[in-house]
Amino acid sequence: MSTETRAFQAEVQQVLNLVIHSLYSNKEIFLRELVSNASDALDKLRFEAIRAPELMAGDAELRIELEYDEQARTLTIRDNGIGMTLEEVVENIGTIARSGTRRFLESLSGDARKDAQLIGQFGVGFYSAFIVADRVELRTRRAGAEAADGVLWTSDGKGEYSVETIERTARGSEIVLYLKEGEGEFAASWRLRSLVHKYSEHIAFPIRMRAEAEEGSEPKWETVNQAAALWTRPKTELKDEDYQGFFKHLAHSDGEALAWSHNKVEGGQSYTSLLYIPAKAPFDLFGGQRDERQGLKLYVKRVFIMDAAEHLLPAYLRFVRGVVDSDDLPLNVSRELLQDNKLTQQIRSAVVKRTLDLLDKLAAEQPEKFADFWREFGQVLKEGLTEDYGNRERIARLLRFASTASEGAAQTVSLQDYLGRLRPNQTAIYYITAETHLGARHSPHLEAFRGKGVEVILAADRIDEWALSYLREFEGKPFVSVAKGDVDLSSIPDAEGVAPPPTAELPEGLAERVKAVLGDKVKAVRGSARLRDSAAVLVVDQHELSLHTQRLLKQAGQAVAGGAPTLELNPAHPVVMRLAAEGDEARFAEWAQLVHEQAVLSEGGQLEDPSGFVRRLNGLLFAS
Ligand code: ADP
Ligand code: MG
Repeated sequence: MSTETRAFQAEVQQVLNLVIHSLYSNKEIFLRELVSNASDALDKLRFEAIRAPELMAGDAELRIELEYDEQARTLTIRDNGIGMTLEEVVENIGTIARSGTRRFLESLSGDARKDAQLIGQFGVGFYSAFIVADRVELRTRRAGAEAADGVLWTSDGKGEYSVETIERTARGSEIVLYLKEGEGEFAASWRLRSLVHKYSEHIAFPIRMRAEAEEGSEPKWETVNQAAALWTRPKTELKDEDYQGFFKHLAHSDGEALAWSHNKVEGGQSYTSLLYIPAKAPFDLFGGQRDERQGLKLYVKRVFIMDAAEHLLPAYLRFVRGVVDSDDLPLNVSRELLQDNKLTQQIRSAVVKRTLDLLDKLAAEQPEKFADFWREFGQVLKEGLTEDYGNRERIARLLRFASTASEGAAQTVSLQDYLGRLRPNQTAIYYITAETHLGARHSPHLEAFRGKGVEVILAADRIDEWALSYLREFEGKPFVSVAKGDVDLSSIPDAEGVAPPPTAELPEGLAERVKAVLGDKVKAVRGSARLRDSAAVLVVDQHELSLHTQRLLKQAGQAVAGGAPTLELNPAHPVVMRLAAEGDEARFAEWAQLVHEQAVLSEGGQLEDPSGFVRRLNGLLFAS
């Protein structure tokens, strides 16, 4: 075959341009990306060689080599891994097969630092070579292929590349970067060594460079990284910076880990786990497909097998990154086999336990760090209440909420804190759900609770109502929504310096008159035991969804069961007294609607007839 020139897929060129421009300030990461590809290629070969040992023939010492020529300004990254066929080169390097890359394009923020962290997560790693090189040559040969089936791929990163078949005796890939003017430092020994140290220290394969040689003698290869899988090393030998360095490699990012847990388990089965909690959430924690989850790498006896997060981690712990290395699983384990395997189940529940232990410890010993964790991942952890019945209690103890006892949305309390502040005779944990923190904090539903000095949890995450409905109780105390059904606080003493609550009795006939005006908009009208300062509030039945969740579901196009809410009126409020005193039926109807509209608004709802509301309000403001 002769040389063939082809155009990059349009998206490839777009990614390339973005990578080159947005990452220029962090250009050194190209080496991390290319070394990590070489390491993946070695992992793949080792995996395939389990079934076909002949693939390793003649060259069993897996390694990565860096060669440089300062004069010629070239850098070569070489591996003796799996290599690629011509079709694979075109497929992997010339097109963007994975939908992930499209998400990458959409998620770029224009902030170079942030975008630099994204690059590795999306498999646009190879193109980072063009940040520092104006020409790249890739020579490769698939393990097991004939020497005549080598491939040469070349490009200057400007729209086109060429491919041709070449003779190549060596297995694996070799990438030569022709460095741009001014990028000569990447062909210098000291710079390369320090980059290997920074980004690739914990790659499990040796990275070799030529040692300084005496005049006239051939320089020898020397290994410049640790080249031992970090998790296999004894904990006592490892420093925090070692763990952080390995985390960067695992997470493909410059971000830090918040905490980690490294354990060697021996006994029934033996395996090692190293689990990290990242300091920052990846941008696609909530989006993305749950079955595409990455993050937990499964090794068997030091051989990388696959990304196995979906088998070893429940979805609510999808923020965990790490490695599990089993001595007992068979090397040829498949996804199907993992699915219902006893050993896998055991590992999975141990991984969950270790993660929750780690979070417990963080909460107990470093509450500020735990608060950081909660801000990033709390919403995800909450999903565990619905997903992991067995650990519900443990997860509940890790929950944090804003409450009327804390200031602002960021200050949170735990459920144990809450129980420590129960008022005499208080038998329930009270909460309110709303669309926003302020909507919850200023809700009229809280007035009676304030009067009794009873703390209320302010739950403004979308999933809260759902999650709390699964939790139901904590340490024997049921969760009760302050916005649903009847509340009876009469056995709880009033807070100090607070006047006793008004009677819940409405003047005779008032409820019926208001109901007649409002019709189907409300289920019933009654006096309220919840209100102190507001005139009116809407209440749903004990087992109905709260009004704001009903709205969310309707917006999402779902049918919502449940009738109209009940309108509760505050008999002691001047507006309600005025309403009761109104003899003119037309004016009474205006007042009644206005009171209802107030209740709808303060609960975060939308008015059916906003301009009617404004007209009524102005009419009454200027009524003599
Ligand atoms: P990612 O590594 O996330 O898949 P890259 O852009 O870094 O994305 O690499 C694209 C693909 O090119 C890889 O998935 C792999 O199939 C192939 N590839 C890159 N480098 C090598 C290499 N040294 N040996 C074999 N295949 C490689
Ligand atoms: Mg890569």
